[in-house]
Amino acid sequence: MLLLDLKKNNRQLIEDHFFSLCCDTYVEGKLEGGQSVADEKLSNLDISNYSKKRNNVLPEHQRGSSYLSPYIRHGLISLIDVWKRVESFQYEDKSKFRDELLWQEFSRHLYAIIGKKSNKALNFKVTTDRKLDLNLTNNMNCISHIKKELENTGYIVNQTRMWFASHFGLRNHENWETHEDYMFKHLLDGSRFSNRLGWQWVMGNQTGKVYGFAKNQVQNRAKELCNSCELKYNCPIESWPNVASIDQVNQNFNLDILNNFGPQTVVKDVNNFPEYVWITGESLGDNDPALKFYADLPVIFIFDEKLLNLIKVSTKRIIFILQTLKELNEKRELKVYIGDPIKILKDKKISVTFAPVPKYKFISKNIKPIVEFPAIRLVKPIDFYPSSFSSWRKKANLNL
Ligand SMILES: Cc1cc2nc3c(=O)[nH]c(=O)nc-3n(C[C@H](O)[C@H](O)[C@H](O)COP(=O)(O)OP(=O)(O)OC[C@H]3O[C@@H](n4cnc5c(N)ncnc54)[C@H](O)[C@@H]3O)c2cc1C
Repeated sequence: MLLLDLKKNNRQLIEDHFFSLCCDTYVEGKLEGGQSVADEKLSNLDISNYSKKRNNVLPEHQRGSSYLSPYIRHGLISLIDVWKRVESFQYEDKSKFRDELLWQEFSRHLYAIIGKKSNKALNFKVTTDRKLDLNLTNNMNCISHIKKELENTGYIVNQTRMWFASHFGLRNHENWETHEDYMFKHLLDGSRFSNRLGWQWVMGNQTGKVYGFAKNQVQNRAKELCNSCELKYNCPIESWPNVASIDQVNQNFNLDILNNFGPQTVVKDVNNFPEYVWITGESLGDNDPALKFYADLPVIFIFDEKLLNLIKVSTKRIIFILQTLKELNEKRELKVYIGDPIKILKDKKISVTFAPVPKYKFISKNIKPIVEFPAIRLVKPIDFYPSSFSSWRKKANLNL
């Protein structure tokens, strides 16, 4: 177990403690962490013309994306905050944008139910004729541009996430998880729920319909990449890959709401008082229910060493989290550790907000919180398997 000295600068912290736990040495992402940055981005949010501009890729200034995702992903702003913030915008933009917020919530619901099984084909297993040797595509400007942007900034727009996933998931999908993992590592907003759902959706595993990627999309959305590509007249992706087979997958999941979504009201051990607030990577914001309620208690955050060693995220993500924690440290007494959460939390009386991810569920089974708050949700928990976004949406009960 190691206690981090938050007075050190980020480069020092990364060099001293994260060197062997990350996939790169030191890269700062495009978006800075911290509650004040998140609040400012939310307050300046302008979704005018979102419905028309959302899919734009290049030039960058014509993009309609909000760039809010890392703040939403780490709980610095909630989907409810964002939902309410766009109330005054035009119907067309507001409804398209809110639809995307619902996709985010859908991915969380799905993950709460399927957890680690999210890397297996969901409802369909689709295969394509796999004609393309991916080595032949190394010189494609579109794919190398996406990789460069992802590695250098930690952010790519939804459209290029779909291209990338389609390219590596459908043209030769034997190792799609390796490419999904690569994307997850480098995204500042990388989450297993949204990333895996994105890949599964593109590959047709959810709906039975694939999202194909070919030259045409690049020409429509980022023409300059085609124009300057050495393969312009010899493009290896002139058309979509052909679907060879679609097999249905039968699913059977535990649908118990408490097990999947955690408590719906605050759960307390009435004989004890918490001494610390434990915050997780899912909920780092000032409005985290446990953090807010116990405003005077010291706070603990733990970089799970074993997990980091396994997933090896980019230093971009660690820096984003450090920036957030350093700001919190100015307002609250905070201890940041690297180590095994179970060992560090053992014998500590903690209050925490439930996080619907497998690791949290595992830790909180071993370390019983004295007070556990429900997670903040845009849509109320469900007791059915959501096989598609549209079927889920019809039954979605907003929590506003
Ligand atoms: C292959 C693939 C992988 C993805 N991986 C992730 C991931 O790891 N983490 C992640 O947060 N999102 C992921 N997404 C969803 C989406 O691409 C990003 O949320 C979005 O691009 C983030 O940029 P933004 O905040 O500027 O989006 P905006 O377009 O401004 O949308 C606002 C918010 O709505 C939500 N949202 C938008 N589009 C989607 C979507 N298709 N699915 C789910 N939520 C959405 C996000 O919370 C986003 O911040 C993935 C999509 C695909 C196709």
